[in-house]
Amino acid sequence: MGIARRAACNAQPQCAPFIRNAFRYTGFALQTEHRTTNASQMDWISAARHRRTGFVQPCRALWSFVGYRALLKVCPNENVLGPAAAAAARPHSERAAASLLASATGQRPKSGAAGRRRKGAEAIDRVLERYAATVGVEVHVQLATRTKAYCGCSCEQAPGPNTHICPVCTGQPGTLPALNQNVVELAVKAGLALHCRIALRTKFDRKNYFYADTPKNYQISQYDMPIAENGYLDLPSSGKRVHIRRAHMEEDSAKMFHSQTAEEEPDEIPGQDPGAHEAKYSLIDHNRAGVPLLEIVTGPDMESGAEAAAFGEELQRVLRYAAISDCNMQDGSLRVDVNVSIRPRGLSGVRSDDALGTKVELKNLNSFNAIERAVDYEILRQAAMLDGNGTVRQETRLWDEREQATKVLRIKEGASDYRYFPEPDIPPILLEQAQVDAWKASLPELPAEKRLRYTSALGLTPYDAGVLTAEPATAFFFEDTVGHLAVEGLDPRMLIDRAKAAANWITGDIAALIKQKPQARSIQETALTPSVLAELILLIEDGTISGKIAKEILPELMEEPCSSVRDLVEKQGKTQIRSESVIADLIRQVMREHPENVQAYRQGKTKLAGFFVGQVMKRGDGRLDPALTQRLVTELLSRDDSGES
Ligand SMILES: [Zn+2]
Repeated sequence: MGIARRAACNAQPQCAPFIRNAFRYTGFALQTEHRTTNASQMDWISAARHRRTGFVQPCRALWSFVGYRALLKVCPNENVLGPAAAAAARPHSERAAASLLASATGQRPKSGAAGRRRKGAEAIDRVLERYAATVGVEVHVQLATRTKAYCGCSCEQAPGPNTHICPVCTGQPGTLPALNQNVVELAVKAGLALHCRIALRTKFDRKNYFYADTPKNYQISQYDMPIAENGYLDLPSSGKRVHIRRAHMEEDSAKMFHSQTAEEEPDEIPGQDPGAHEAKYSLIDHNRAGVPLLEIVTGPDMESGAEAAAFGEELQRVLRYAAISDCNMQDGSLRVDVNVSIRPRGLSGVRSDDALGTKVELKNLNSFNAIERAVDYEILRQAAMLDGNGTVRQETRLWDEREQATKVLRIKEGASDYRYFPEPDIPPILLEQAQVDAWKASLPELPAEKRLRYTSALGLTPYDAGVLTAEPATAFFFEDTVGHLAVEGLDPRMLIDRAKAAANWITGDIAALIKQKPQARSIQETALTPSVLAELILLIEDGTISGKIAKEILPELMEEPCSSVRDLVEKQGKTQIRSESVIADLIRQVMREHPENVQAYRQGKTKLAGFFVGQVMKRGDGRLDPALTQRLVTELLSRDDSGES
C-alpha cells in the first residue's frame, strides 16, 4: 500500500512538495509513530482513522485515490465548482442584479460604497414592495474557555502554526476525548441568556464528513438533542422578536492555507487565501481544531439586511455581557452565515419553510456592515432573477467585499448525509435543575434589561441608553460613575440630573476624544476613572468650576491618572471666581472704560447689559460665575454713583 501510494505521488509532480510541507507544517506525524517515510505514515494514519469511523479496511484501498484527492485538491464535494465552471455557471441574475443596482443608483455598482448603499436602500424598498424576503441566521460562536473542548490544549493565541495541539485534537488513533465541563456551563448560560429551554439530558453525536481540515474525519457535534432550544432575542430598535430554534455545542475544525505557488514557504502563506480551487497545495494548522463552538440557529424571522445585522449586533452584546464569548468577528470568534429567500407578496399566507422561496446561503460575512449589504444585494439579485422569469438556485454564495457582490461557491443538490450517530467516547450529559438554576442566577444583567432600567429608572433617552449599553465596558463605567454620584438621601430627581450629566459626558466629549486616538479601544483603557468623572460632575454642579473649564481639563484627565480634580483645578487656578468684590472690581473697570455705554444704559438702552457681561467675562478668563456676574452688572449699572466710586 505504501508503495502504491508513493507511485501515485510520483505521478503527480505537485504531491511531493505538498507532503513535505504538510508534515513540516502539521508536525503531528512526529508525535505518533516514527517511520522512515512520510508517505507510509500517511497511509497508517488514514487507515486508522477509517477504522475509528467504522469504514474499516476496504477504505485503505480507497484512500490513495480519495484521500489523496481530498488533501491535494481540497474538493471532496462533487458539487464544488472550479473557477471556469463557476464563471460559466454564473447566471444572468448577477448581471441583472448588478444592472438593477446600477439603474437604481445611477452609477456603477462597484463605485462609492457609502453613496451606493444609501441609494441602494431605496432600490431595496421598491423590491420589498413586491417581494417578501425571509432571512434566517446561523451563528458560530467560540466559547471563552481556557482550553479546548475535548483536550487540555490552550485556546489562547498560538505563537505559531500547530503549537497548541496534542494527539486528541489531531485525531490520533487510540486517544479519547475528555469533555471540558466549562463548555457545558457556557453553552447552558448562552441558552439561558437567549431565553431557551435547556435540555437536562443531552448527548454528543458524530457528524461524519471527509475533509482535510477535520483530522478525525468527523466532528463531535450535537444532532437531535441540542443543549438549548426554543428561545428568542428581541431586536433593540424595533422590538421585533427573533426566535432561536436551537443552540448546540460542537468543535472547530483546523485552519487551511491554500498556496498558489508550488514552492512557497509556509510562513508566507497565512493571510492570503487564494481559495481551494486555485491552490497548488494546502497546509493545515491544527491550533483551532477542537476549540469549542456554540452554533446558534434562528427561525426565518428577519426580513432585510438591516434586521439581520441588528440581530448579529444584539447577539454579540448579549454574549459579551454574559462573558460567553469575546465575539470578535475579525478574529473569527463570531461567524455569521445568513439564509436569504424571497417570494412574491400575497402569494403565500402560510409561513411554512417551503412557501418561503428557495434558500440561498451567504458565507464570508466579516462585519455587520457586510451582513447588511450582502443580504440586500441578495434580495435584489433574487428579485431580478424572478422578474426575468428565472428560478433561484439553492446554493451557497460568498460575499466579495471588494466587488460588493455575492459570488457562487457551490450548488446544493440535496441535504448532505453526515451519517450522524451518538458519540460513543463521551457519555450522555445529565444536568441537575439546581445547577441550571444556579447558572441562571449567576448571569449578569443583560443589555435589554439594562436599556430598560436606564430609560425608566434613570430617565435617559432610548438613544443614550443604546449608546451606553453597546459595549459592556462603557455600561460598567457609566454605572460606576452613577454609583459615585448616588449619595445616601439624595433626591431621586437630582440623581436623574446627575445620571444624565454622566451620560452626556460619556457619549459626548469622552467618546469624541476616544475616537481621536486609534489605540484606545474603550473608555476603560483611558486614565479616566468613574470616580474622577463623578468628581468633575460634582465640581460643575456646586459651581467650583464652569462647564467650559471642565471641557478644557478633560483631555488631561483622560491622559494622566488624577487623584483629586479639585486639587488639580486649584493648582492650575481654574476654579470659578465667585467673590462679589473681585467681580464688582472688574465691572467698575469696564464701566470706567466705556462711560458712553453706561450713560446710554441709564437712558434706557438696557440691552447694553449683555455688552458689559461679555467684557467682564472676557477679563475673568472664563472663570467668573456667569449668574453672579449677570446680577452684579445689572446692579452696578442701575446705581448712579457706582461709576465714580
Ligand atoms: Zn489537544
